[in-house]
Amino acid sequence: MKALRRFTVRAHLPARLAALEPLSTNLRWSWHPETQDLFGRIDPALWTRVRHDPIRMLGEVSPARLDELAIDGDFVAELDRLERDLDTYLGQPRWYQNQQAKGADLAGGIAYFSMEFGVSEVLPNYSGGLGILAGDHLKAASDLGVPLIAVGLLYRSGYFRQSLTADGWQAEHYPALDPQGLPLRLLTEPGSGAPVLLRVAMPGNRVLRARVWIAQVGRVPLLLLDSDIAENDPELRGVTDRLYGGDQDHRIKQEILAGIGGVRAVRAYTHSLGLADPEVFHMNEGHAGFLGVERIRELITGSGLDFESALAAVRAGTVFTTHTPVPAGIDRFPVDLVRHYFGGVHGENESALLPGLTVDRIIDLGRENDPSVFNMAHMGLRLGQRANGVSKLHGIVSREMFNGLWPGFDADEVPIGSVTNGVHAPTWAAREWMDLARRAVGPELVEEARGWERLQEIAPTDLWSTRNTLREQLVQEVRRRVRASWLERGATDAELGWVSGVFDPEVLTVGFARRVPTYKRLTLMLRDPGRLRAMLLDPERPVQLVVAGKSHPADEGGKALIQQVVRFADDPEVRHRIVFLPDYDMSMARYLYWGCDVWLNNPLRPLEACGTSGMKSALNGGLNLSIRDGWWDEMFDGENGWAIPTADGVTDEVRRDDLEAGAMYELLERSVLPKFYDRDADGVPARWVQMVRHTLQHLGPKVLASRMVRDYVVDYYAPAARSARVAVADGFAAARQVAEYRGRVEAAWPDVRVVQVDSSGLPDTPVIGAALSLRAYLRLGGLAVSEVTVQAVLGRVGADEELTDVVTVPMRHAGSDELGELFVADTSVPLSGSVGYTVRVLPHHPLLASDAEPALVAEPHL
Ligand SMILES: *Cc1c(COP(=O)(O)O)cnc(C)c1O
Repeated sequence: MKALRRFTVRAHLPARLAALEPLSTNLRWSWHPETQDLFGRIDPALWTRVRHDPIRMLGEVSPARLDELAIDGDFVAELDRLERDLDTYLGQPRWYQNQQAKGADLAGGIAYFSMEFGVSEVLPNYSGGLGILAGDHLKAASDLGVPLIAVGLLYRSGYFRQSLTADGWQAEHYPALDPQGLPLRLLTEPGSGAPVLLRVAMPGNRVLRARVWIAQVGRVPLLLLDSDIAENDPELRGVTDRLYGGDQDHRIKQEILAGIGGVRAVRAYTHSLGLADPEVFHMNEGHAGFLGVERIRELITGSGLDFESALAAVRAGTVFTTHTPVPAGIDRFPVDLVRHYFGGVHGENESALLPGLTVDRIIDLGRENDPSVFNMAHMGLRLGQRANGVSKLHGIVSREMFNGLWPGFDADEVPIGSVTNGVHAPTWAAREWMDLARRAVGPELVEEARGWERLQEIAPTDLWSTRNTLREQLVQEVRRRVRASWLERGATDAELGWVSGVFDPEVLTVGFARRVPTYKRLTLMLRDPGRLRAMLLDPERPVQLVVAGKSHPADEGGKALIQQVVRFADDPEVRHRIVFLPDYDMSMARYLYWGCDVWLNNPLRPLEACGTSGMKSALNGGLNLSIRDGWWDEMFDGENGWAIPTADGVTDEVRRDDLEAGAMYELLERSVLPKFYDRDADGVPARWVQMVRHTLQHLGPKVLASRMVRDYVVDYYAPAARSARVAVADGFAAARQVAEYRGRVEAAWPDVRVVQVDSSGLPDTPVIGAALSLRAYLRLGGLAVSEVTVQAVLGRVGADEELTDVVTVPMRHAGSDELGELFVADTSVPLSGSVGYTVRVLPHHPLLASDAEPALVAEPHL
């Protein structure tokens, strides 16, 4: 018989061991090895069986063993020490508080929304990079003391688990999670203690209800909304069934719950603890964008604002991060579907879901060229005064991709910045490195990214022996997983004797693990199977290759790529040197990042927005062998790994793959392998270890999530909080003023004209640096001189009259006459060659983040 439902019952802890409860439920244990050790000590064999999950450990350990530990002096002393350590971690001032004490004006609180969070494998609420990044963001925020509240959904089945069929096809399983068996507690009403039940209106007078689980990630609460409760009808119960499963209708319900329900969850949480409301709302990707319309509704119904003033107030405190460099990767819904969920009863224009807002105005927020489509990224940009991409290159790509929302502006003027992603060192760096680093440098190495340069003091033999230890661990893990996978594929133990010879702890180990969308090119390594086989089987300098990754269940093409790799790796001649490991997740990923010598990444540039797995490898002294895309484009320095040359301009995809695969083989054969196998008298590959040291020293501080979170705090959260404070002060006076200004400037703009431009002062044969005076007459359509910015723009002129390499010079008001308002500038010729200039007008208001924000510009009509 199979159980219909399951639930987990936690053991009753002896009073003396009560501290095990907070130590198991606060996910800080997942990046605190000493706490993990303590749980291991309870019962080492059981600890392995429960896969290092403290809650399961406490559920399965025998009461007799707990009674024994309660009188074990050593155990209890260590328990007390760790409890105090956790209390200190949670209570003491950290970087954020220290900055504030020094007078920094930082955000009072930040709400961070994401559709997935990868905090730990015990809470499998993620599919890939986006979720892991969100998890690392929370952990680093906790370490730094950033007052963040995170918001997402609790999926009953998380993402799928992957296995292989006998013929190498991906099979998917969706094990149901039991919230009672997870490190979660319910959000309850302050007075009654009853679970908080959120309500979101659905079409046809239905109501979607959700309870709110809290996962405690160090100092940061993660609120997870769950619709699987008896109060919902069966269809609505299923809203939070799976991550990225289901059709568009399912998806929009999830996003409505995450965005609108999410804001309500934040309010219920702060209310229950008497905390102040967050000043800043951060959308990690556009999926949770409906949070902005809910906050507009709050201001309309609660503070009596009109829509435009409410929008101005919400924009001031909203940050939007975009993660995809391809238009096809952006979340879009049919406008009719949005109308269906937000619309009014009997076709009235007032929204039934968000009373006080009109459906047309909501739809306007997500409009794009195609009027039948609602674009979540466009909504993110319209709701957030500040926006960013996730690497420098992705910033450039995003400014180009969204240039259409700023017509008349050059791509590099589009107000989208970048914060390069980072990874949480205590989660991803092997304990061996963390211990070595703490001993050599001190805790600030990881917490504040100071002192990495002192890694040069570590002896080459120590660096090399750490690399060897980690590779050896990976080899054991690979064998364990290969055996398990073959058993699942129908093999018997008797046939699997060869598995103990899979991989060799002495052989150069290359890793490739990631999701399997086409652009990541899982099978590029198989482009020339003969050449790869020769490298794997080289008698002197072999390479071994570990591959992993999940394909989206609906992506048959991705599954075919996986099958291609599996079939290659099944060949008895090479199966000891190449493996495909099913079910890539955090628990596997860790071994790969620790143990691989080389981390391979070969996306189609520039489709990898950032990429973070290579950063995790680098933190462990892995060397990256990668196309210059995402983070690697800005951080490759010639000594920390290898850049596979890209054939960017080649449009024939087959030829491009051939060229790039060829370059990758070439690098492996000519540079990577010789360096690894070139040993000195002590058996140490000196040139290799030099690169490992260089990688740790130079990439270490740059790839940290603590660096990333500090960048967000200083460059995005603090300015957004200041804008938000100004916007709401004095009964929203500034928000109303901005809304009034924007309305007026949009109405006036068709009448804003550059009527005449003259230059003087240029000699007949000007040389670079020659003085140049410009005068321009403008009509401002009723706007005041102080309400615009007037600029002279000088640059090189190409064949199409386009200005490039431009220099922008502000022009000042110098009077007015019957021709209009006169603006002048005295400047000098900035370039040689064919040089030109123009004059343009932009709106200007002190409460806007930049003059480009309203996306209006007036230039002379030619
Ligand atoms: C880091 C990580 C990813 C993301 O890696 P990319 O390089 O961004 O593709 C995906 N899955 C897991 C389990 C990870 O740890």
